[in-house]
Amino acid sequence: MRWSEPQRAMLREMGLRLWLPQAAAGPDIAVAGATGPGHAPADEPAGSNKSMSGAPPSAPSGLALAAETMDWPALQSAVEGCRACGLCENRRQTVFGLGHLRAQCMVVGEAPGEQEDASGEPFVGDSGQLLDRMLRALGLSRDATEPADAARQVFITNTVKCRPPRNRNPTGDELSACQPFLQRQVALVQPKVIIAMGAFAARSLLGSDEPIGKLRGRLHSWRGVPVVVTYHPAYLLRQPSDKARAWEDLCLAATCLAPRAD
Ligand code: SF4
Repeated sequence: MRWSEPQRAMLREMGLRLWLPQAAAGPDIAVAGATGPGHAPADEPAGSNKSMSGAPPSAPSGLALAAETMDWPALQSAVEGCRACGLCENRRQTVFGLGHLRAQCMVVGEAPGEQEDASGEPFVGDSGQLLDRMLRALGLSRDATEPADAARQVFITNTVKCRPPRNRNPTGDELSACQPFLQRQVALVQPKVIIAMGAFAARSLLGSDEPIGKLRGRLHSWRGVPVVVTYHPAYLLRQPSDKARAWEDLCLAATCLAPRAD
């Protein structure tokens, strides 16, 4: 990938590193600028309202079994009509996810907020704009109006598809209830890499209670699909000093993507 000057300028502005494909960069991710060693990473808290301790969530078998055979229309319809947990009570609408249905890169966030609940789309508002800028820096986009390109477009969704009241964190039961939908989305997209943004995405996919700072920076695996854990954009807006680490994580995810012609 060749970086355009606008991309370079944007990355410099954000204090982020540049990613180069392996062939150009050698075995490691190439860097320009960024944080130095010895700077202890700050940790994104797992959540202020709910404990995430205990066993990984397990999906209800009925919904899990039904979801396993659903195609995209059936899955979307099932989500829209779902009342499997209490989050259905206060939602304006479900937030299913969007993007390329066979994207090489899948982004999994946490839960819809107020703006997502209103718009029906994941990652809108300031955190969505930050995510879009970071994806664009890697040559990726969620824009469904662009010509379909699985290598350039991502699929974005959340761990739960309905907004928790007052933007509280999703509970373990709610994560478990919604997990079959996320699992089926992953199975249908068949991404080359999943970027799990935030503690609840990591919990839902990896069943791990560890803080983001312990999980990020290395590849995990979910049913054979590489998973990169990183900070949620909403957290990065509050802790911009961690943007460089998030960029490192996105660069790590990019190493899992197929080489592109350009
Ligand atoms: S959050 Fe998920 S499991 Fe709960 S009602 Fe919404 S779609 Fe169903």
